[in-house]
Amino acid sequence: MNKRYWSGRICGLVPYTPGEQPKDRQFIKLNTNENPYPPSPRVTGAVAAAAGADLRRYPDPEGAPLLAALSRACGLPQDHIFAGNGSDEVLSFAFQAFFDAGSTIVFPDITYSFYPVYANLFGIRCRRVPLNPDFTLPVEAFCGGNDGVVIANPNAPTGMAVGLDALRAILEANPHAVVIVDEAYVDFGAQSALPLVGAYPNLLVVQTMSKSRALAGLRVGFAFGQPELIAALRCVKDSINSYTLDRLAIAGAVAALEDGDYFDLRRRQVMDTRERAAERLRELGFTVLPSQANFLFASHPAVPARDLFAGLRAAGILVRYFAQPRIDSFLRITVGTDGEMDALCRALESLLGQRS
Ligand SMILES: *Cc1c(COP(=O)(O)O)cnc(C)c1O
Repeated sequence: MNKRYWSGRICGLVPYTPGEQPKDRQFIKLNTNENPYPPSPRVTGAVAAAAGADLRRYPDPEGAPLLAALSRACGLPQDHIFAGNGSDEVLSFAFQAFFDAGSTIVFPDITYSFYPVYANLFGIRCRRVPLNPDFTLPVEAFCGGNDGVVIANPNAPTGMAVGLDALRAILEANPHAVVIVDEAYVDFGAQSALPLVGAYPNLLVVQTMSKSRALAGLRVGFAFGQPELIAALRCVKDSINSYTLDRLAIAGAVAALEDGDYFDLRRRQVMDTRERAAERLRELGFTVLPSQANFLFASHPAVPARDLFAGLRAAGILVRYFAQPRIDSFLRITVGTDGEMDALCRALESLLGQRS
């Protein structure tokens, strides 16, 4: 395409590729780590109630009612909390707020593929640390000599998590650099770094309502950190768009936080289904990494993942395949309902059977 009118800053960019959102036919969608269950009915009610005459008014620029609800939920004061339009936006603000153009940030070679995209957009250099052969995090390799650190915990697309001791070591070895811990999947069984926020001024914890709260369509994400970091995020936001959270999103997010029972019920269901599905995949011969997220990362010794991906798609089931060194023998499979995972396992059984 002609890029005559494009700024030099974006001419060479390779943007992030979101998972497919099919419009034409009904698929079993196990490709974008959405929640298979609807959000809390309280969310629907609150959004409907907010869709009234007040929409003529701008929302609160910081999402104040949401900061109050988050503060009640996590016990941190409101000046330790930032809310934005999905955690992708929060992450992009954090990259701008904490990492200089020309400086170098470090993240694993296998992780969320949005990190290098932000880095390229903002002129930040990337140092990719290879995960160990078993996909665990080589903690020592993140200790020292960095201008910034980004770690998804649990990691994507592996689903594997590290404990707080590892994060403490990384925080202490990088006192002059902000360490971003992206906890998009933390509610499915990993340990959150939130209790470390008070002790480490260089820690920013990022979370989202997209996965565990079944609100990917509402676009709400958060960051937790000491006031110095939170003020920097607000500075970036108010230099771009003061109203990133609309009135419906604020109302829906508050209602979601207030329905803790529903949250616990649904995430428990997802975790139970995950363990059952992992077991069945292992019975089919797959290697399945130990997941603390709402997806499974699985590889079959006999059949290429690319072929399984295509076969599943033809059978009406979407999963994610990354044509990338080290992980091109794996499929990333979002945990759906029990019924959806049954359909997945039956389809895989049939695809594997055709091969033998
Ligand atoms: C899904 C995801 C996000 C982004 O979620 P939002 O919908 O933008 O809140 C961020 N980080 C990781 C690792 C994710 O998988």
